[in-house]
Amino acid sequence: MKKVFRILLPIALLLVGCSTADKNDDLSQEHLVYSTVWFQKSPEAKALFYQAFNIAKERVVELSKVKGEKPKAVVVDLDETMIDNSPFQGKMILKGKPFSSDFWEEWSELSRAKATPGAKDFTLFCDSIGVEVIYLSNRGTNELEWTMRNLDSLGFAFVKPQNFLLKDSTSGKEPRRVKTAEQYDIILLLGDNLNDFTEVFEHRGDDWGVSIVEKNRNEFGKRFIIFPNPMYGDWEKSVYKYGKELNEKEKFKLRREAVSAF
Ligand SMILES: [Mg+2]
Repeated sequence: MKKVFRILLPIALLLVGCSTADKNDDLSQEHLVYSTVWFQKSPEAKALFYQAFNIAKERVVELSKVKGEKPKAVVVDLDETMIDNSPFQGKMILKGKPFSSDFWEEWSELSRAKATPGAKDFTLFCDSIGVEVIYLSNRGTNELEWTMRNLDSLGFAFVKPQNFLLKDSTSGKEPRRVKTAEQYDIILLLGDNLNDFTEVFEHRGDDWGVSIVEKNRNEFGKRFIIFPNPMYGDWEKSVYKYGKELNEKEKFKLRREAVSAF
């Protein structure tokens, strides 16, 4: 009996191993693991969000005192600025499945994103001092109802259709900022992507946009409040050299090539 067991056990373990390997066979999203864990679990991530919202509040107080003809507004991005979609990144990892609109909408429709640390209070604070919050996001206009339901359940202020500028035809946010500026004096912009601030970051060039950041260095913490997002963003386009239709093997190679070492 013991002998049979000695023979069968390794075979059984091998079979269990195979089935686990099958499930996780596609490791194409493996590179997201560490950044997602950092975003979801590290207290440093939480602290950075509180830091950003604390600075944003100070700036709103200061800038709201400046006299002007139009009412004042803060323009905020949604995903990974005001709400946390990292469970979607988690699903990408577990399924080994890359981003697609259909896959994203499965998550978005659930309206289950949590508020980022400090986000809800920031909207209530702006409301209390008479500054409007405009949600300018590249979620599709078809996601409006799901998104409003989500923010409403979290207790955010300004959850009304006219305060949401979602993406219809163009993903560039400048036309929507211009439209907002017709009605409001935009005093502050909040986002996890440089494109959330000004269109100059839409053409980043060969140095990944670093020289544009240098040129605008005095705006950060003043008019632009940036949030950490190591999971995804327009910075990835530089990693992949703006290549479209790359397969996972090519992406893997380009990610390795982007690393600097001594
Ligand atoms: Mg975002």
